[in-house]
Amino acid sequence: MNQGPIPAAEAINRLIQELNKLPGIGPKSAQRLTYYLLRAPEEQTRLLAEAIQSVKQKIALCSTCFNVTDSDPCFICRNDQRNHNQICVVEQPQDILALEHTGVYKGLYHVLHGAISPTEGIGANDVRIRELTSRLQDGSVNEVILGTNPNLEGEQTAMYLNHLISPLGIRVTRLARGLPFGTELEYADDTTLTRAIEGRQEF
Ligand code: ZN
Repeated sequence: MNQGPIPAAEAINRLIQELNKLPGIGPKSAQRLTYYLLRAPEEQTRLLAEAIQSVKQKIALCSTCFNVTDSDPCFICRNDQRNHNQICVVEQPQDILALEHTGVYKGLYHVLHGAISPTEGIGANDVRIRELTSRLQDGSVNEVILGTNPNLEGEQTAMYLNHLISPLGIRVTRLARGLPFGTELEYADDTTLTRAIEGRQEF
């Protein structure tokens, strides 16, 4: 007779399953986190649950740049001290955090929320490219910096965008090659990112 593992309480299984859906959390980690939370003080688990809920309730996307924000337009789009003639295009909101951390870029951003990937069936209409081109219509932007990831999807997206934007007479640049191929922007260190911004090249 197959005894199998001792069945854990339904609530425990449920939490393990939910945590397992998170990126970078495998079944082992999901189990470890679940049992950690089980032993943690009531207060800590309550704060965690509240933080998860409020991130969905209070945080929305900026209707201009599509960065995550609790006010619309976001604090970057609203900031008159920033250069409104420059837009740096990134794949994810986390990339803005990484670039802002360097303190060298003073322009605006545009978050695509993904990258073009024919192999995964993600086309130009599945990311926020149309919203980007509509921002370029009034002629106020004179440089678009392509800050997509230095990997296959990021390069494909950059090429597609260059094709789309160059004919509008807008300068298109790409973050410098200092970023190792295959990496993601959000994991690059400040020095590398600063060099990549300052050494950006014409596409
Ligand atoms: Zn914004």
